[in-house]
Amino acid sequence: MPGRVDGMISKRLQGVPPSGTVKISNLVSQMVAEGKDIVSFSMGEPDFTTPDNIIKACVDSLEGGFTHYTPSAGIPELRKAIAQVASRDNGIPCKPSNVLVTPTKQAIFLIALGYLDPGDEVLLPDPAWVSYEAVVRLAGATPVYVNTTSEDRFVIDPDRVSEAITHKTKMMIVNSPSNPTGCVQPRESLAAISEICADRGIRVLSDEIYEHIVYSGKHYSMAAFPDAFENTLTVSGLSKTYAMTGWRLGWVIAPEDDVKAINRLQTHSITCCTSFTQPAAVEALLGPQDARKSMVGEFRKRRDLAMDLISEIPGLECSLPDGAFYLFPKYDAKISSTELAEILLQKGCVAVTPGRAFGPAGEGHFRLSYATSEDRIIEGMGRIKRTLADL
Ligand code: GLU
Repeated sequence: MPGRVDGMISKRLQGVPPSGTVKISNLVSQMVAEGKDIVSFSMGEPDFTTPDNIIKACVDSLEGGFTHYTPSAGIPELRKAIAQVASRDNGIPCKPSNVLVTPTKQAIFLIALGYLDPGDEVLLPDPAWVSYEAVVRLAGATPVYVNTTSEDRFVIDPDRVSEAITHKTKMMIVNSPSNPTGCVQPRESLAAISEICADRGIRVLSDEIYEHIVYSGKHYSMAAFPDAFENTLTVSGLSKTYAMTGWRLGWVIAPEDDVKAINRLQTHSITCCTSFTQPAAVEALLGPQDARKSMVGEFRKRRDLAMDLISEIPGLECSLPDGAFYLFPKYDAKISSTELAEILLQKGCVAVTPGRAFGPAGEGHFRLSYATSEDRIIEGMGRIKRTLADL
């Protein structure tokens, strides 16, 4: 009786759809379990196994009996390693006390819950990752999209940010490199947004989960801009960089008072991150980085391959992304992106995410994650080409 369940869930949850990415991934798992051969370009997840040195550190910590609660903000060695790498490589002026260890998605959730009230407005680039809008709504606040376009390669125009600000604007979420567009925002744009937000008393939530997956251009941490640290909540994590999606391990870097506030929520939710993964996270950050670099090299090859193949498909247009592992092509078929994704899955046996899941500006596009093998990219692109030709 689905009606009964819907009637009982909170008003907060009513009207918030399931995650567009996770929903399709669940569906693909089900179809594969039924014996169907689906090429999945849906989930933003590296197909590599976590590097051996990281797995070994985890096994060692398990065998050493490190299986109990840890301090809620994370083990000191990991907070120190995160602060060390963030200040050394990203220029974020932080100390271990500025770090809270928490799964990255959870970090975004805790920040929304900890900082947003009903009536607050939150600026988001359009298109943007599927869960920002949902999380903002779950916190009772209102998402306000700042349009970006494929013609501008999805760069955020700071003037549009200024125009979207009202007396209710409390926060702006920035995600560079971007999911779903792969855009690496240029320094000028990020610096201008940081300044506008500081001037207007708007907190910046900078989601830098794809920070290491950059092919051209450079990643800038917003908290590293002059005077920006006090106003910026940086989130990142290990999932994409070290092929550790299943580990659920990330962090927030923020001023100490913010870390304390978010930690208060953590103490009432997950208590702490899984204990035995935390020493492995130290190994990931401070151990050899060759595996990380070679995975990024592979992603670059796959991007180039996927771009070559997409350019041969009539009716698709795609700008070259500088980072992350997504293509976000525009299509000319006169159907919605949800219908298109449905047809590609059911008729073409290839899974993509409808562009509309990422915001109104995503309509007319679909997202394709190329974090899969070259063989599967070739096979999947062939299926897309044939399916679109039959439309
Ligand atoms: N962030 C990835 C994606 O967009 C994983 C799924 C999710 O968390 O949405 O595909």
